Amino acid sequence: VANETPFPYENLVVDIPDYPEPGVVFKDITPLIADERGFSACVDAMTQHFLGKGVTKVVGSEARGFLIGTPVAYRLGAGFVPARKPGKLPREVYTQSYALEYGTDELQIHKDALSPDDRVIIVDDLVATAGTALATAKLVEQSGAKILGFSFILELAFLNPREAIGKEYSQEVYSLI
Ligand code: AMP
Repeated sequence: VANETPFPYENLVVDIPDYPEPGVVFKDITPLIADERGFSACVDAMTQHFLGKGVTKVVGSEARGFLIGTPVAYRLGAGFVPARKPGKLPREVYTQSYALEYGTDELQIHKDALSPDDRVIIVDDLVATAGTALATAKLVEQSGAKILGFSFILELAFLNPREAIGKEYSQEVYSLI
């Protein structure tokens, strides 16, 4: 319904100052997804945006990308593909490393999880520097699948993730908060 008041998602996200380290404000989305109305409002909003666009797969990164990516995939009638930390997937994988504040990390997907016919959205709870989302996008590209867009519950706009994604991808970036 076009004129319906949007669900007040923000009220159910809890800010934890100086977690996991000093200077970082951790955004805890667990109260939002623990709320019956909050969870479905979130999933519906993230889904609404990509309905009818022929999404065949949702890719979500470990671990909170699984929590929100799987219901979004179900709602879209798409499959879900986990992008996991190294050593967790049992068969042949594509690997992508990405920079963290200190050092690097890696994400992997199964080589046969996506094909060039797939139309993919990348979903996570939160985008900060966009390092995780860009690494996930590179994994999708390694498989030859087409990226249709990115969807997040929360975007930390002061870290300019939209700009970082925009440098490499022209696809749509959708965030609820
Ligand atoms: P980035 O790769 O910098 O965009 O960081 C995004 C990933 O790190 C997501 O999977 C988030 O769950 C997590 N993350 C980064 N910053 C925060 C934050 N301030 N609060 C909660 N999660 C965060």
